[in-house]
Amino acid sequence: MAREMGKGVAVVVGGSVAGLACAHAVAEVGWKAVVLEKAAAPAAGSGGTGAGLGLGAQSMETLARWIPGWGLDAATLPLAVDLNRATDSETKAARTLTRDEGFNFRAAHWGDLHRRLHEALPAAVTVLWGHQFLSFEVSDDDDDDNRGVVATTRVLGTGETVEVAGDLLVAADGCASSIRRHFLPDLKLRYSGYFAWRGVFDFTGKESSDIVTGIRRAYPELGSCLYFDLAYKTHAVLYELPGNRLNWLWYINGPEPELTGSSVTIKVSEAMLARMREEAERVWAPELARLIGETAEPFVNVIYDADPVPRLSWAGGRVALVGDAAHPTTPHGLRSTNMSLLDARALGACLASTPGVSSSRQRALADYEAARMPVVAAQVLHARRLGRLKQGLPVDGDEEAAGFDVRRVATAEEVSQLRQRGMPYFGGAPTSGAG
Ligand SMILES: Cc1cc2nc3c(=O)[nH]c(=O)nc-3n(C[C@H](O)[C@H](O)[C@H](O)COP(=O)(O)OP(=O)(O)OC[C@H]3O[C@@H](n4cnc5c(N)ncnc54)[C@H](O)[C@@H]3O)c2cc1C
Repeated sequence: MAREMGKGVAVVVGGSVAGLACAHAVAEVGWKAVVLEKAAAPAAGSGGTGAGLGLGAQSMETLARWIPGWGLDAATLPLAVDLNRATDSETKAARTLTRDEGFNFRAAHWGDLHRRLHEALPAAVTVLWGHQFLSFEVSDDDDDDNRGVVATTRVLGTGETVEVAGDLLVAADGCASSIRRHFLPDLKLRYSGYFAWRGVFDFTGKESSDIVTGIRRAYPELGSCLYFDLAYKTHAVLYELPGNRLNWLWYINGPEPELTGSSVTIKVSEAMLARMREEAERVWAPELARLIGETAEPFVNVIYDADPVPRLSWAGGRVALVGDAAHPTTPHGLRSTNMSLLDARALGACLASTPGVSSSRQRALADYEAARMPVVAAQVLHARRLGRLKQGLPVDGDEEAAGFDVRRVATAEEVSQLRQRGMPYFGGAPTSGAG
């Protein structure tokens, strides 16, 4: 006998933002969720893992449904203004290129968001920490004895192997997703042409120090503004996070760095740090160079994305791709976390709107794909273009079409392309296939 849709179980692989968001979304429509995460425990919160991210209005509204009090407390700071400026590396003078006061994002710390998503999970969700997903099997049967999906996972603490059954497998296992690779073995991550130095400067207890008063003088709208500083063929990002922190990134063009394992971050040597600090002084205004130079443990993040995948739903509606597993993206449109949250919301909405048996699950997954494919494909490609533009690299695959050049006076059309609001679906994306 086929089960009602409302009694489905989602096996979610990956317990980061996309995975926990999907658990909330499916639980909201009456499903159960089992989340398999290889990390041994939830992130330590704002003091520990992760750095900054920007959340759009639709994400804020979505999170407020799942996390009581989200957005009403000190978890986020406004990013009301999207400001692009040009720095002349000779004189260190900065000039405004374009300023958008209707940006309406919020800045949050990844650790805070992750901890709160986790703490607010309803009883219908079980998170199995320290469980490494190994493989899955699907079958067409859809009866009480056979849920249709079986995931095999290794318990990292004991080495034992455990099977978890469900009706739907949700791949939220990040940009190097093994589940995506199963269906799309030839889809490779694509090096952007640049890497980023990044760091979070904690100024707790140093609010009146020279470095903090200096940076606030040079960047007077910290606390409400997303600063993009463009210099010749490079750009930096700066914004404030809750809890006395300044989040910065600095993108540098160059050949693809060598990575070890599946991580896209690099452990840096003292020599690399020294060279980076020297270069920061050459390129940026002294206040930013000092902030970069005095940040503890900055690290290198190599920037990748992937061409849009042909489908988000696989195996006859048994497997859904979400988050970075579905659409690895460059960070320039602040999309990664926002896309993850909205994937989850759309998946939940589609499961809710097609109650019933297995053919309805297929229909729900087709709706999910119809809602999200056009959005995520357009956003990934736009973020790719925006990054190349701001890095002064050729755009649109046309070697003649050079990116933005801060050394010359740009037209209004050229500067308008630097704005965040050029992102497709900037004002919001449909949350189900029906719109
Ligand atoms: C620890 C951490 C810190 C981050 N900090 C930031 C930040 O500061 N700013 C920012 O913009 N983005 C950050 N991100 C990335 C951000 O979460 C994503 O870009 C975005 O939100 C999409 O999330 P995701 O859940 O799809 O992917 P990810 O966040 O990459 O999560 C994928 C998850 O799947 C798990 N996983 C992968 N393979 C397996 C497996 N075989 N078995 C079990 N689990 C598996 C991983 O451990 C990970 O938790 C961070 C990610 C992580 C994991």
